[in-house]
Amino acid sequence: MLYINGEWITDGNKMDVINPATGKVIDSVTIGGREETKEAITHATEAFKTWKNIPGAKRGRYLATVVKLMREKREILAETITRENGKPFSDARGEVRSAIDYLEWYAEEAKRLYGDTLPASQVDKHLMVLREPIGVSAAITPWNFPLSMITRKIAPALAAGCTVVLKPASQTPLSAIKVFECFHEAGIPKGVVNLVIGPAEEIGKEMTSNPDVRKLTFTGSTAIGKKLMRDAADTVKKVSMELGGHAPFIVFEDADIDEAVTGVLLTKFKNSGQTCISTNRIYVAESIVEEFGKRLAQKTAELRIGNGMEDGVDVGPVINKGAMEKIAAQVEDAVKNNGKILQGGNIHKPEEGSGYFYEPTVIQYATEEMQIATEETFGPVAPIFPFSSEEEVIEKANHKQYGLAAYCYTKDMGCGLRMMKALEYGIVGINDPAPIVIQAPFGGVKESGIGKEGGKYGLEEYMEEKFVSIGMK
Ligand code: ADP
Repeated sequence: MLYINGEWITDGNKMDVINPATGKVIDSVTIGGREETKEAITHATEAFKTWKNIPGAKRGRYLATVVKLMREKREILAETITRENGKPFSDARGEVRSAIDYLEWYAEEAKRLYGDTLPASQVDKHLMVLREPIGVSAAITPWNFPLSMITRKIAPALAAGCTVVLKPASQTPLSAIKVFECFHEAGIPKGVVNLVIGPAEEIGKEMTSNPDVRKLTFTGSTAIGKKLMRDAADTVKKVSMELGGHAPFIVFEDADIDEAVTGVLLTKFKNSGQTCISTNRIYVAESIVEEFGKRLAQKTAELRIGNGMEDGVDVGPVINKGAMEKIAAQVEDAVKNNGKILQGGNIHKPEEGSGYFYEPTVIQYATEEMQIATEETFGPVAPIFPFSSEEEVIEKANHKQYGLAAYCYTKDMGCGLRMMKALEYGIVGINDPAPIVIQAPFGGVKESGIGKEGGKYGLEEYMEEKFVSIGMK
């Protein structure tokens, strides 16, 4: 289904949606291409002329209505996420809450878009800075958080006064359709939000080359992010990029081992390790590395793997066969390089159907030579690297390419503060495995991206300053 200028389009070519827990087709959706994207941009451009001038408070009320509708539909939204993405139902409920929280935050922020008055250098001048919405925003979202990545982009865009054309991931279009049903029901004016599902490259080409698009916001892989940035350069669009990560998780000798193990379980196995802030490398002080490995393996063995709709499941499938095979290849490479599997290490065959599962895995004695040390895993595999000094672990933890999230466990405040400064990452959790909140800036440094989402920082991405100098003679 496409949603353009307030109308649902159901005729046209179709694309299947697959449940990764069963490998079976669960739905089929109408897709569009370059023409439909162009049409959506034209309508968004027209709608921008009025939407930007509506008082922020009123835009906020529209968003608040969407919040109300999404709350009413929260169970069906969560079920949709689990069916197309695979994550356990309780995690899908968490994602729905987070998606709504972002909408609610920006519904409130819409009435707080202030400009500045500057002190003039001459008595006969008055200087002002207006903060204005940038214009039509094209948004491209991934499959790992099929709902919250959408509201995290659309909510600040609409609050700021921008209009939007969204392309969700082809693996997970159903959550996008559900949220657009809420936009429709909330009576958001025609053309303000538009949805185009379909071939990524074709839609992306129109979004990056169309001069009416003034902002491109993307969450996905670094490789595609770079390509989109290059393509968007021709029309000098403002871009925000939330790209790949390779998070280190550092456990110092004085840390509470059980708390650190719990932290790894959360940051490594949630979403089957398929988030850009998932732990990728666990650095543990040499003196406790054996004990840490033992306890992590024990806890990992207790995780229940299965279809996310079943009660008590902790780890669902990965998104598709390709993802499963990539994980298997990384584990094979780690074993070849003398890694020792403490837990898991195999593709998991479900009792029913043919879903794509990989066992939650712990690998001891990981080394820098392994692929897993530098390549993003996007799977439930936890490699443990021993370290002997703070200097050594800082050197190793800072990744050449990525800089999204890093975690550090220690009871020594001095050490914690030194790590806070030394870690070259956009997000640092010290004794905190969940450093993500709506009011904070989410985003990376280096090739993990540019721009932020969340809080007042997220709003800036959809606005630009206009300086006005008024002579008073
Ligand atoms: P992943 O490998 O995790 O799927 P991608 O970066 O390929 O990450 O996908 C993230 C989003 O980018 C999805 O919506 C996908 O359809 C979209 N995408 C992929 N390739 C392109 C492209 N060439 N142009 C525009 N969007 C793309």
